[in-house]
Amino acid sequence: GAPRVVVIGGGAGGATAARYIAKDAGDAINVTLIEANPQYVTCFFSNLYIGDFRSFDSITHGYDTLASNYGITVVNGYAQTIDREAKTVAMADGSKVPYDRLIVAPGIDMIWDSVPGYSEAAAEKMPHAWKAGPQTQLLKAKLDAIEKGQQIVMVAPPNPYRCPPGPYERISMFAHVLKAKGFTDNKIIIIDPKQTFSKQALFQEGWEKHYPGMVEWYGPDVHGGLKSVDPDTGEVETDLDTFKGALVNVIPAQKAGTIAASAGLTNEGGFCPIDPFTMRSKADETIYVIGDASIAGDMPKSAFSANSQAKVAAMAIRGELTGSKVFPARYSNTCWSLIETDDGVKVGAQYEPNDEKIASTSSFISQTGEDAALRKTTYEESIGWYSGITADIFG
Ligand code: FAD
Repeated sequence: GAPRVVVIGGGAGGATAARYIAKDAGDAINVTLIEANPQYVTCFFSNLYIGDFRSFDSITHGYDTLASNYGITVVNGYAQTIDREAKTVAMADGSKVPYDRLIVAPGIDMIWDSVPGYSEAAAEKMPHAWKAGPQTQLLKAKLDAIEKGQQIVMVAPPNPYRCPPGPYERISMFAHVLKAKGFTDNKIIIIDPKQTFSKQALFQEGWEKHYPGMVEWYGPDVHGGLKSVDPDTGEVETDLDTFKGALVNVIPAQKAGTIAASAGLTNEGGFCPIDPFTMRSKADETIYVIGDASIAGDMPKSAFSANSQAKVAAMAIRGELTGSKVFPARYSNTCWSLIETDDGVKVGAQYEPNDEKIASTSSFISQTGEDAALRKTTYEESIGWYSGITADIFG
């Protein structure tokens, strides 16, 4: 029969790859998509849900169209291990899924002990909301329960993590919700292990303009490094001080989704080396790794990047299995962030592969001091992007 392509992970990367292979190869390739959850909640625009700009429903997507319109076999279950010798994926329920080519797109998992005192159980009290779903709803409920004068603390993640501007867009949305209630004396503290962060000048300008005195960002030099968190008291301790939050949002360090390491696809840094021309794993000729789990050179970990990498991998795999033409790989990314109503900013780049890595060839970023009309246009662009990319991922 037709060769089998199996995809692990039905997110921004995996679902795009499955759709493009099924769409372009038709019956010539048999495509199976393995996804643990029956529905996918996008991390992208989840901050806009936190800020009351989007409903939870509007960021939730299903797999029905991929199955019905593209003939993809969607397997709802957790992939436990990969047998690279036998070329099979073992599911948690004991069943096995054979493949000729495998795409591994599991996103990230948390390194829980990167923050002393934090754990999967602690996330029920101090949500990370860095995977969207119940965690996002918990974070939102805790934000909405904040009273006048109460403080929010965020523990920001070290590099590399998914969505470099994400924590700071989230801070903006926290401030927006508090300001809308008239709680402009409430403080939002960020304890950050990084000396600088993505779009810093743009965010700091926006916080001064829209939320004066509310947001305090501290790199490691001010209060010392993070020592621990206490989920029972809401305390965040640094080398020099202790902060207390009615809401504490802990975003721990991250690694490739667990299955990548268990299959031997990761390096010592916890992510997967790939061939920059095709996204093929450096560890296995029949496996491709795309999205957050991969080491994609200059590309940030974003849904835009994952979607772009998926198309490169899909084309390479079709070429290998059916002899279809393979064009030179090109990648692109843009990350938009909303700071306050109609005040959108963006950063992005184009990329090409070379022997070392996927390298940036040109880039752009919003400027400080831009007028309101341009910022509104930038925000509107992001809404168009969201409808476009979710249709490109889920059909
Ligand atoms: P994911 O989208 O996480 O998909 C992985 C999927 O694999 C999941 O559905 C998971 O359930 C499944 N899975 C994992 N392991 C298994 C297994 N063993 N068996 C079965 N299924 C498995 N990006 C942007 O481009 N723009 C934005 O504005 C943006 N905003 C963001 C805001 C926030 C708050 C966050 C946290 C992220 C944001 N991102 C944004 C980043 C974006 O969400 C990720 O980079 C993107 O989802 C990565 O895609 P992926 O396919 O690698 O992983």
